[in-house]
Amino acid sequence: MLKKSAALAATLMLCLMQPAAAKTLHVVASFTVLADLVQQVGGSHVVVKSLVGPNGDPHVYEPTPSDANALAHADLVVESGLGLEGWIDRLITASGYKGPVVVASAGVAPRTMVDGDDGPAKGKIVTDPHAWNSAANAAIYAANIERALIKADPADAADLKASGDRYIAQLKDLDAWARRELAAVPAARRKVITSHDAFSYFGRAYGVSFLAPQGVSSDAQPSPAQVAALITQIRAEKVKAVFIENQTDPRLVEEIAREGHAKLGGELYPEALSRADGPAASYVDMFRYNVLALKAGMLSR
Ligand SMILES: [Zn+2]
Repeated sequence: MLKKSAALAATLMLCLMQPAAAKTLHVVASFTVLADLVQQVGGSHVVVKSLVGPNGDPHVYEPTPSDANALAHADLVVESGLGLEGWIDRLITASGYKGPVVVASAGVAPRTMVDGDDGPAKGKIVTDPHAWNSAANAAIYAANIERALIKADPADAADLKASGDRYIAQLKDLDAWARRELAAVPAARRKVITSHDAFSYFGRAYGVSFLAPQGVSSDAQPSPAQVAALITQIRAEKVKAVFIENQTDPRLVEEIAREGHAKLGGELYPEALSRADGPAASYVDMFRYNVLALKAGMLSR
């Protein structure tokens, strides 16, 4: 008995003396864009699950029982914040998850907008959650994720810092690249129609005006009067670039383009990655795809 407890004490001592062991972090991210940022920063030290899947809408989400299970076994939860995931707090509470919740957008300068939807918030000033559509902001997200991963897995700090810093530098290069690409578009052509208001941070960063029949959340439906006003505006301002979005029903924007005598410029990826074989399987690919599609749409005759 005495021998056994002595052995136990020795084992315990050994455990206390060892540095924290390197480990694989199980991370749950709210949607695909964030999941990719976590994967890029964390590399082989993370296993990431995205709650909302590819081509999914992060504003509205019906969690499944397997989501609660993933949360219950997670080391870290990453959300975008700024009001994007109205559904996530309840899910975290229901799952019993007690670990850290990282708000990846912390430190981003938030943009506000007037809610144009015919809902209870109509006319109110709301925070725009789509901050990742500026690549400079995505670099802030990545820095927050890097800090959180290092805190959760200090034994791998050197590795995580190396991969995180490398990725942050790539995002800053991407921001500069977007400015160079879009510099070719004359000021009078820098107007775009999209399904919902997801590009205000992009517009501010790269000098493009976006008009959208749906407000800041793809959850809301515009009124017939709002749609008619938008069609009038497209005709009056001769807007050429009209885009659908991968995560929303394209029919409304298609109708607006037809009525406004504008051509459809293709599909944008504002808030959901494509599947792995699609054109926007990572944040960097999604951002590049959007920049090039927008540029081509604005320059089309
Ligand atoms: Zn959105």
